[in-house]
Amino acid sequence: MQKARVPGFKRERIELESCSICEGRAVVKGVFYELVCTDCNGSGWVVRGSKLVLSSDELVTQLSFKLQQTQREIAALKASANVAMSLHEKSNRLGAGGTNYTGD
Ligand SMILES: [Zn+2]
Repeated sequence: MQKARVPGFKRERIELESCSICEGRAVVKGVFYELVCTDCNGSGWVVRGSKLVLSSDELVTQLSFKLQQTQREIAALKASANVAMSLHEKSNRLGAGGTNYTGD
């Protein structure tokens, strides 16, 4: 596969996968307390396929990319959940007839 490289303009997005040693939790259980997982540099992520550990510098950038992508996905999910919710509320109001309030 040919890689299009534009040096200095765009950082490469490295595909990551969950660390198999700590199962993506970034820490492993020590005897008394949790220890930072050395197999993934305490990130919970390794390079997909090669399972290489990223350096701290590269890790920060790659995790930022991943976080941004995840935030976009969450925003999209929330938007569609809001649509579903308002549709649900609308049908509820029609069904329940509005006033369900019991005073006294
Ligand atoms: Zn790990």
